[in-house]
Amino acid sequence: MAIGQFAYASNGNRFLAVGALDSEPFALSGVPFDGAVTNRPGARFAPQEIRRASLMLCDGLHPYFGVGLEGLLGDAGDMRLPNASPLAEVRDAISQQADALMANHHCVFLGGDHSVTLPLLRALHAQHGPVALIHFDAHCDTWTDHFGEPSGHGTWTYEALQEGLVVPESTIQIGLRSSGDRAAREYVRDQGGLIYTARDLRGKDGAGLQEIVLAIQQRVGGRPCYLTLDIDCLDPAFAPGTGTPEPAGMSSSQVMTFLEELAPLNFVGMDCVEVAPAYDHAELTSTAAATFVWTYLCGQAAKRKPQ
Ligand code: MN
Ligand code: MN
Repeated sequence: MAIGQFAYASNGNRFLAVGALDSEPFALSGVPFDGAVTNRPGARFAPQEIRRASLMLCDGLHPYFGVGLEGLLGDAGDMRLPNASPLAEVRDAISQQADALMANHHCVFLGGDHSVTLPLLRALHAQHGPVALIHFDAHCDTWTDHFGEPSGHGTWTYEALQEGLVVPESTIQIGLRSSGDRAAREYVRDQGGLIYTARDLRGKDGAGLQEIVLAIQQRVGGRPCYLTLDIDCLDPAFAPGTGTPEPAGMSSSQVMTFLEELAPLNFVGMDCVEVAPAYDHAELTSTAAATFVWTYLCGQAAKRKPQ
C-alpha cells in the first residue's frame, strides 16, 4: 500500500460534485490529519464529511455573490499523509503537496486539526513571502508548547510568527475566548496584530460589524492574505462537532458577515479546520464548514467575473 492510502482518504466524493482537479483556477484539497490535538480527535474524517455536506450547495448561484463555481473549481482529493510518523514528517508531506497545488491554483484546504496550517503557510510563503493572516478561532493558538511537546494544534500561530511566515501587524484573530495565560492570549496583539475576542463581538452583526471590518481591511491593505477558519470559532450550538468546543462563541451569521465583507481583500488561500464529525448529532458542523468554504470561493470567483 502507498503511504496515506487510508479508507477515509480515498473515496470518490468531491466538493460540490465538481470534477477531479485539472486546470481550474481554484483547487480544493483535504488534509486528513488529526494527530496533534489536545482533546478529542476525529478531524481526519472532516474532508469527506464537508464534501458530503457541500452537495446540497451545488445547484445554483451564491445568494450574495451571484456566482457559481462551475468550471472554476477542481477537487484534488485528500493528501496522502504518513499519519503515524513524527509531526515534522507529516508537515513536510503537507508542505510538499500544498506547494505543488499552489504553483498552479488558488487553494482551499479542508483539515484536519489546526496543526496543518503551519505547513500550508510555509508553502504559501515560498510563493508569496510573508502574508497577512485572518484567523477565526476560539483559541489563540499562540502557546509556546503543546503540553510539554514542542508543537501541536495550539502552537502554529506562534510558530508562524516566529518563522516570519505572516506579517505581525497584519495578523488578525477573531472569536477568541478560551482559557489561557496572558502571554499566549495576548501574543498577537503584543506583536502588533489585532485581536477581536468573542466578547468584543457580542451583540454585533451585519452593519454592527462594519467598524471592525474596516479596521481589518486597513490592517491587511493590498497584501496577499490567508484565511484560516477554525470551526470552533462558532458557538458549540452551531458547531458541536469539534475537538475543543468553547461555549459563548460566534454565530454562523457573524462569520458569514465577515466572509462577505472581507471578500474584496487580496486572498491567496484558505483552510477550514477542526471539524470532527463524530461529535455532531445533525451534521451541523460540516454543513457550516461547507457553506463557509463555498462562500469564500464564490467571493473570490466573483472577482473574476467580467464587470
Ligand atoms: Mn485553532
Ligand atoms: Mn480552536
